[in-house]
Amino acid sequence: MNPSPAPLMSLEQALEQILSSITPIEGAETQSIMDACGRILAESIHSPLNVPPYRNSAMDGYSVRSADLPTSGETTLELIGTSWAGTPFAGEVGEKQCIRIMTGAKMPEGADTVIMQEDVQAREQHITIGKGHKAGQHVRHIGEDIHEGEEVLLPGKVLKAAELGLLASLGIAEVRVQRPLKAAFFSTGDELCTVGEPLQEGQIYDSNRYTIFGMLKEQGVEIHDLGVIRDQREDVETAFKRAAELADIVFTSGGVSVGDADFVKQTLEKLGTVNLWKIAMKPGKPLAFGRIDKAYFFGLPGNPVSAMATFYQVALPALHKLMGQTTQAPLRLKLRCLDRLKKRPGRIDFQRGILDYEGDELVVRSVGAQGSHILSSMSRANCFIILPAEQGMVEAGTEVQVQPFSSL
Ligand code: AMP
Ligand code: MG
Repeated sequence: MNPSPAPLMSLEQALEQILSSITPIEGAETQSIMDACGRILAESIHSPLNVPPYRNSAMDGYSVRSADLPTSGETTLELIGTSWAGTPFAGEVGEKQCIRIMTGAKMPEGADTVIMQEDVQAREQHITIGKGHKAGQHVRHIGEDIHEGEEVLLPGKVLKAAELGLLASLGIAEVRVQRPLKAAFFSTGDELCTVGEPLQEGQIYDSNRYTIFGMLKEQGVEIHDLGVIRDQREDVETAFKRAAELADIVFTSGGVSVGDADFVKQTLEKLGTVNLWKIAMKPGKPLAFGRIDKAYFFGLPGNPVSAMATFYQVALPALHKLMGQTTQAPLRLKLRCLDRLKKRPGRIDFQRGILDYEGDELVVRSVGAQGSHILSSMSRANCFIILPAEQGMVEAGTEVQVQPFSSL
């Protein structure tokens, strides 16, 4: 069988083509804000109120009139009441008067300044204050955080701890979120043994299904695991059909390198459309992308590190777009690399590195062996070292671009 002539393509080109062909899924649902944790906002949120809703104290102390602040010497003020958080003082503070006030408690009419309790001599119904206080100090103003009507969250935002708190602070109990994205995946390969079964001669354990599961789980999608599929035309075809029925997006691993390419291509051409690409990246290179019926399809390379690198660098932006999530480009840092890195010009390289401090300088080292089959390198690493296509060898001590895994 002749392998398909797969064109070599830059990573940018591949990403551009893939992203431009993806239309976000439709369908939103209403969830309570706690159930919406980790979900993608499907509406724009405008604040129904001012935060804070009333002037309040930033300190435990005394609420006074700035006109009464002494410019020299001391002043004694009459204490006429207390404003507690939750139980405001009902009256007005007049000339030479003050009230005791707690953090977060409402500022009374008449007063505009708070004196910290540490700066006051208090006795019975009077306090004495010295000079050096600023008019208006320690007061939180209406709408200082958020103005009524202000747009505080945009659709596409992933709702995390801060957003849940923000919504709650606005009195918003429920929001519209995108429906969960459904992802199905299976591994292909006659050599694959499923965890839990004894390994036969010539077999290896299927690890890609677990890394793919983990990477999808990190994205909070609904997961359908279709197991290991043998390299049999009918089995692969059946699995593809089933996956496309179940999911919005289908991931497979293996079977897209030169020897197998026609096989996957022929199977998929019966069911949809498929592009087989050679991407000028390392690890990675072979990638199938297309559609089976309404579902999108990513055929990731079989080599375990290639499958992960291709997922993170190529599939993830597409997954985010499909989910309706606005993505921030992952963090990229320029750091000194302590090791010499082997590299030949031609392909963009995602080497595995370890970010660490040397004294107070953040530096990066190589994890060592960079083979696309060495999965332990991904586990030891905490970042990709990104070396551009045209780059050759990297001498120790040179600055390189680093992408922390934690930002992916
Ligand atoms: P393939 O792309 O199917 O030719 O596979 C390339 C390499 O990746 C081969 O060494 C396979 O044994 C290995 N491989 C393929 N699928 C998996 C998998 N699910 N888990 C671990 N290794 C795999
Ligand atoms: Mg295979």
